[in-house]
Amino acid sequence: MENIKTTVSIPEQGLEREAVLEELRRRKAGDPDYRAPRTFSLVYYMGEEHTQFIQEAYNLYFSENALNPTAFKSLKNLEHEVVRMGVDLLHGGETAVGTMTSGGTESCLLAVKTWRDYGRAKHPLNRKPEMILADSGHVAWEKAAQYFDVTPIRVPVGPDFRMDVEGVRKKINRHTILIVASAPDYPHGMIDPIEALGALAQEKNVPLHVDACLGGFLLPFIEAAGTPLPLWDFRVPGVRSISADVHKYGFSAKGASLILYRDMDYMEHQFFVSQDWSGGVFLSPGLLGTRPGGAIAAAWASLMGTGKAGFVDHAKRTMETARAFMDGINGIPGLAVLGKPPASIFSYHSTDKDVDIYAVGDQLTERNWHVDRLQRPEALHAMITPRHSRIVDAYLEDLAQGVNTVRAHPELKRQGDAAMYGMISRVPLRGAVRSEVYKMARKMYGPQGLLPGETE
Ligand SMILES: *Cc1c(COP(=O)(O)O)cnc(C)c1O
Repeated sequence: MENIKTTVSIPEQGLEREAVLEELRRRKAGDPDYRAPRTFSLVYYMGEEHTQFIQEAYNLYFSENALNPTAFKSLKNLEHEVVRMGVDLLHGGETAVGTMTSGGTESCLLAVKTWRDYGRAKHPLNRKPEMILADSGHVAWEKAAQYFDVTPIRVPVGPDFRMDVEGVRKKINRHTILIVASAPDYPHGMIDPIEALGALAQEKNVPLHVDACLGGFLLPFIEAAGTPLPLWDFRVPGVRSISADVHKYGFSAKGASLILYRDMDYMEHQFFVSQDWSGGVFLSPGLLGTRPGGAIAAAWASLMGTGKAGFVDHAKRTMETARAFMDGINGIPGLAVLGKPPASIFSYHSTDKDVDIYAVGDQLTERNWHVDRLQRPEALHAMITPRHSRIVDAYLEDLAQGVNTVRAHPELKRQGDAAMYGMISRVPLRGAVRSEVYKMARKMYGPQGLLPGETE
């Protein structure tokens, strides 16, 4: 069959369906292999059996729309049950409530909107709402702050890479509408000191949100597997809302997260109601209008089909694998894991000026690994699932070789992606970086759709 060329308009006549599908298969062949797995964090892959199972669940609700909760009632009930399972898991008791969202970002956006509106209702004179978050808090919070016109106040993390409680105390003022902490944070995998932050939040009567987009469906099972963790969920009295992604460690289909509140009086500020629209009286609980029923059904199926025992088993294997990774990395001269991550998300940096960590990243790319680069401090990132147990040794071997190559070739840090990432992370004029990224976005999403590195 002939390849289908890059398309700029809808074909006059529809093509053979098999040819269309074949073209999709051909196009994706060059993408990173998440099954092997040679990716970290982008895909949470539990294996073919589980994937087929949630695909089947997704397909059962492929066309159903959760826009109107009173139409497909079974779908509303599935959402309710996923929420209740989340509430139960995170110790929200009888009073906690929540909704499903399309992902962590929507959960974060909604939390900021909700707490902003709650703050407005309580303190109408506060026209300059502020939210406090650590440098390690996910960028989705910054996006939320920008969208909803709340000023983000960043607090540096301490030497242990956790949110600094005294730093937070200093930033609380009459404008503060929200404190956001992470369990764990995306860059370093650390759980912020939630108990101390909860006490502070209660003392100052400020809402505390725990971003457990990563940890929500992982940490409870690490605990159940016998590894004690400090409390971070609704068991901490000052915690008023939690976000938890089912499409991460819940191993669901993409498009599934939870936003949970301790009480309906908080969540009410999330709802949108329009009573006068000519299209009808309208209630919407979240950001989306049309909502894919499949994502809800797949989330329900993943939780029901895996069960607590299954998740505990995943957690054990995840922890063992992450341990092997971190010990292996700490054993490579010139590299060290940042902090002491309690779970399976971590990053590592260079402890030797002759080893440029971004050049090491390029070596991994060259050896077909897809790794994320962090800045401030410069580091490489990994997020481990049980699937990664099969590649620990291969990864560590490639990493050790990569470090040797970088030592032998100091020029590598001035070449390839290492040069670009180094420039981006080190250039003192942050505004210049920002405008370069805007330029890149204009190219990527412009008429030519050029990826970075491609030329017109
Ligand atoms: C992934 C993540 C988010 C954003 O979630 P998406 O599903 O990617 O939109 C927010 N916070 C943390 C800590 C995350 O890891």
